[in-house]
Amino acid sequence: TPSLPPSQPQLTTSKEAPTKAGDKFLPLDIAVVGAGLGGLAAAYLLGRAGHRVTVFEAASTISDVGAGIQLSPNVTRLLARWGLGEQVKELAFVPETLSLRRYKNGEVVGWRKWGEIMERDYGAPYCHIHRADIHNILFEHAKPHINFRPNSTVVSIDPSAPSLTLASGEIIRTQVVIGADGVHSRIRSILVGEPDSATPTGDAAYRTLIPTSLMLKDPELKDLVNEGANCWMGPKRHVVGYCVRRKELYNLVLIHPCKVTNENTREVDCDVMRKDFEGFEPRVQKLLSLVDSALVWSLMDRKPLDSWVHKDGKVCLLGDACHPMLPYRAQGAAMAIEDAAVLGNLLSRVTQRNQVPVLLQAYQELRLPRATLAQDESRMNQSTFHLEDGPDQERRDNSMRAAMEVALK
Ligand code: FAD
Repeated sequence: TPSLPPSQPQLTTSKEAPTKAGDKFLPLDIAVVGAGLGGLAAAYLLGRAGHRVTVFEAASTISDVGAGIQLSPNVTRLLARWGLGEQVKELAFVPETLSLRRYKNGEVVGWRKWGEIMERDYGAPYCHIHRADIHNILFEHAKPHINFRPNSTVVSIDPSAPSLTLASGEIIRTQVVIGADGVHSRIRSILVGEPDSATPTGDAAYRTLIPTSLMLKDPELKDLVNEGANCWMGPKRHVVGYCVRRKELYNLVLIHPCKVTNENTREVDCDVMRKDFEGFEPRVQKLLSLVDSALVWSLMDRKPLDSWVHKDGKVCLLGDACHPMLPYRAQGAAMAIEDAAVLGNLLSRVTQRNQVPVLLQAYQELRLPRATLAQDESRMNQSTFHLEDGPDQERRDNSMRAAMEVALK
């Protein structure tokens, strides 16, 4: 099933972390490489716990692409616990339903009630939010607790010292390194110690945002704004649509096969994009006619790792750097933020330097199985969503219809 939050172990925040009477918290120098959602969440928690945290980011500013992101309750619950919940709710859109549709005619074959059901069953909302909004919220909260270094590409590390070398030649000595540098992670390559690059999955994603004011003028598109989330499943491709920034923008993600393996995000010719989805129902065509610019991503993958922690116990990986996944379960950033929660919690208990390797090992043991499961389930959804028309697709749709009938009772 798409986008449903996996169950989650109970996590405490650093403020709740027990310390033995007489034990004194030991602040450490911690370098976080990468200010993506995972790196920023980790930096915020570690800085707030009292560590001296420096975030090294290759880009010149904190920014994210103009696109939406789904935050399932396993994440929104953490964000609320960290004091970010109200700001997230203010900028997000909470969808009432998820509809899984036949690509050709828009028939709903699967349906789920979200909205207050998520709050009731998981204790937190399912939110759709603009990436820049959640990025800014995390950065604003982290800022008072961290030293932020933009324009700081890490080109190498010595995992034993540990130390970082920046593209400028500057060498930074530290005590702990967290590699949160994304799917093309340099820290990961150094940790693995052999050529290990991201591989294309054969799929790519177009992403674009449409002002909902344009959709509300069209009686056929109006309902899409008010309904909730939609997913149109077609052969080798699918389309996901939902509102962000309250309801001002409609986020469209269009997954399609792609031979181009260029890792960089690039502008796309909108006519090529429209042609890729010409077999989809009229409302998808109408949506695409409203688009005048879009970006495309090649979706990359990396083989699962046995270990996220260097043998000397001073360097670990987090987020896409250690468990990149196809976005077909909307759990990539969720897993990165959960990683940060666990790491932040464990390292807020340090009272002696020699505890760090043990705590990093505990982090890996708590997180690796769950993140690997999310990777596997995301890959499984690739075949579920992309079935060719035929007996397998009919079986899938019939089982979704049966589940929908139960949900509607
Ligand atoms: P990143 O966000 O990749 O951040 C890495 C950072 O490190 C970047 O800022 C980069 O500039 C920096 N960096 C890289 N190398 C260096 C270096 N050498 N030195 C210094 N800095 C460096 N997830 C969800 O939970 N929900 C969704 O709905 C969802 N939808 C998605 C839709 C699409 C189309 C895609 C492609 C992904 C989606 N994801 C979703 C996945 C999610 O975007 C990622 O899993 C998440 O952003 C990973 O965060 P991260 O912090 O690990 O890495």
